[in-house]
Amino acid sequence: MRLGILGFLMVSAVATLPTKAFSGDDLRKEIDARNKFLPLPLGKVRPEGWLKKEGELATAPRGLCGDMSILEDNVWRKPKKIKRRGATGWWPYEQQGYFMDGITRIALVMGDEKLMDAAKKTYDAVAERSSKNPNGYFFCDDGGYKKDWAEGKDEGNDRQRWFKTGVEGMYWSMAVFSRGLLAEYMATGDKRLLEVLKQEFRHYYNKGRDEKLRGKPVTGYELYLNRGMAMLGPMAEYIRLSGDEVAYGRAVEIFKNNEDGMLKNYLAGHPTTICHGVTYNELTKLYAIGYLLTGRKDYLQASVNAYDFVEKNHTQPHGVHTAQEFLKGIGSTKGTETCDVADYMWSNLWLLRATGKGKYADIIERAFYNAAQRAVSHDYRTHVYFQTPNQIPGHEVCGKQAKYIKCHRPICCARNLTRILPNFIGHGCMKTADGLAVIFYIPSKIAANVGGKDVAFHIDTNYPFLGDSKIVFDNADAAEFPLKLRVPGWCSNPAFKLNGKKLDIKADSDGFAVIARPWKKGDAVEVDFPMEPRVVEGVEQYIVDEKGKEAHMRGHGKPIDIQGFVKGAPFAYVARGPLTFSLPLKTEDDAKAALVVPQKNIKVSAAPAPDGWTWGDKPPVTLEVDLQKIDWPIGDPPKLPAKTFKLDPARVVRKTLIPYGCTDIHRMTMFPVAK
Ligand SMILES: [Zn+2]
Repeated sequence: MRLGILGFLMVSAVATLPTKAFSGDDLRKEIDARNKFLPLPLGKVRPEGWLKKEGELATAPRGLCGDMSILEDNVWRKPKKIKRRGATGWWPYEQQGYFMDGITRIALVMGDEKLMDAAKKTYDAVAERSSKNPNGYFFCDDGGYKKDWAEGKDEGNDRQRWFKTGVEGMYWSMAVFSRGLLAEYMATGDKRLLEVLKQEFRHYYNKGRDEKLRGKPVTGYELYLNRGMAMLGPMAEYIRLSGDEVAYGRAVEIFKNNEDGMLKNYLAGHPTTICHGVTYNELTKLYAIGYLLTGRKDYLQASVNAYDFVEKNHTQPHGVHTAQEFLKGIGSTKGTETCDVADYMWSNLWLLRATGKGKYADIIERAFYNAAQRAVSHDYRTHVYFQTPNQIPGHEVCGKQAKYIKCHRPICCARNLTRILPNFIGHGCMKTADGLAVIFYIPSKIAANVGGKDVAFHIDTNYPFLGDSKIVFDNADAAEFPLKLRVPGWCSNPAFKLNGKKLDIKADSDGFAVIARPWKKGDAVEVDFPMEPRVVEGVEQYIVDEKGKEAHMRGHGKPIDIQGFVKGAPFAYVARGPLTFSLPLKTEDDAKAALVVPQKNIKVSAAPAPDGWTWGDKPPVTLEVDLQKIDWPIGDPPKLPAKTFKLDPARVVRKTLIPYGCTDIHRMTMFPVAK
C-alpha cells in the first residue's frame, strides 16, 4: 500500500516526536559516549614511508584517485540530463558519489590541496542547489526524481518502483554521496554543508516492509530492493555531529519500520544466505549504527551476527568475502568485487566503533594488506572488477573482469576503490572516551587533541612484514591520558617496552593493552608482535538453489533467495601475521602442487620495506614451504581436487611463497592438501 501525502504527514508528525526528552547537546554526548572509538578529523593521521608512496601513486594525475577530469565532469556538480532507466538511470550518481567520498578523504589524508579545492567546487554547487529547494532536494533536476523526493518516502521493498523508476537508486546514491559531505564537513566545519545534511535527513523517510511480508524472514532479494535504507548510515553520523532531534526521531522510526524480519532473524543467527554483496555490507551493519543512536543492545547483536555469518561462510583467504556480485560461499575460483573490498572495510569500521573489539580491526587490516592490494595494480593506475584467490595460466576465471584496466564497466569499482586507502589510513589512530588508541600499526605521523592538550607522535614500524613498531611522542608539553594499543588476535605473546624498559601488560578481552601516564617528547613505546607462519585448513562451500545446484547470480529482475550450502574441496593456505601468501604461477604445471600439512619447516625471510617500496617491488617477506607435486587434470573452471592427497616424500619440493598483495594475476593461494 502506498501512503498518500496525508499518510506521509501523519507519519511525519509521529516521526518528529523525539523518543526521549533530548536537548541537542545531550543527544550528541550520549551518542559520542556509545562510540568506543571515534575517528580523528581526516588529515590528523598522515602516512609515511611505503604507505605514503602508495598514497602518492593513488593521487598522481594518472592514479585512480587523482584524475581531475572525473571531478570536473561530475554529475553532482553539473547535473546532466539523465535517462531514468529504472534500475540503472541513477548509476552515474552512485558511482561519482563514491568518488566524491573517496577523493575528499584521500585529499585530506594526503594534504593534497589541489584535490581538496577541486572537490570543494562540487560541495559548493550542492549547497547552492539545496538552498534553493525548501525540502533539501539536491540530487538532480530531471528524471522525475524531484517529485519522488518531494513525496518524502522511500518505499522500502516495493519491487515495481525499484525497477520502473529506480527511486531506491536515488536514495542509495544520496547515501553514498552524503558520506563525502560528512567528511568535508568534519574536516572544514563548513556550516552550509551541515544545513544540506539537515534538510536531506529531515526529509528522508522509509516505511519499511510491506504488510504482506510481516513476520517472514528478510531475504537477500528484499534487502536488494530496500537499498535506500543505506541513508541511515550517514544520517546517524549527521545526528551525532549536529544533535538534530528531529532527524533523530525520524531515524529511530525508520529503524523500527525495518526491524521486522531483519532483527529477529539475525538475532536467531540466520541472516539471508544469498545477497548482493554491497547491499549486504551497506544494510546489515546499519543496526550496529542504530545501537550507537539508541543504545539498543539487540540492534548491535543483530549486526554482530550478520558479520560473524559472513566471516564464517563467505570470507576468502585474501580477507574479503566473495561477491560475484552476490555472496557465493568460499572457493578458490570465486570472485570478489572491488566495491566489496571498500565496503567490507567500511562496515567493519562501524562494528569496531560500536563494539570496541579489536577483532574488527584485524579483519580490516587483513582486507587491506591482501585483497585491497590486488583490487588495484601495483602502480595504482588500473584495477580489477573481480579478484580470485587462484588464477591458473590457461584456466583464468572471471574473464575480462579479472584483468587490470583503467576502468571497468559498470564504473562502480573504479570509483568505490578510492575510499580504501583513506579509510584505512584515516582510522590508524582513533579517539577513546579519555585518550587515544593505536588501531593500525602503520608508518605515520599523528596529531590530536586530548582533554584540551595537543598531542603528537609518530609510528616507526616494520609491520606487517616484521612484528616490531615504535611509537615516539613529539609534544613538548606533557599530556596525561590512557593510550590503548591494539594486539592482533593472531598474536598470543605480545611484548611491550616503555622508554626501553620491559612492561608487563596484557591485552584485555577486547584485544587492547593500555598504558596510562603523562606523555611528552621523547617518550617511546615499543611493541613486538612475534609472527609465526600458520597453515589454515578449510573446505570450500557453495550456495545451492532449490534443486541442489550451485546458484549463480540471476538477472536483477528475478528473485534471488536461495538457501543452503554444500561443501566442496578441502584446501589449505599459509598466512603470517595479517598477510596471506601465494605461489606465483608461470605455467599450468606450476599449479599441480599440494600444500603439505602439517608444515615442519617453513623458512621465513623477512626484512623492513624500504621507503618508497611498492607492492610490485621485491617482496620484503617470503616463505619457503613444502609442496607436493600432484597429478591434477586441471579443468575449466579449475576446481580444486575433491580429495586429500597422500603424502609422498619423494614428490615434495621446496617452493617460495610471496604475499598475496605482491602477486601478479597468476597465483595459487588455496592449495589442495597432501597429508
Ligand atoms: Zn563495483
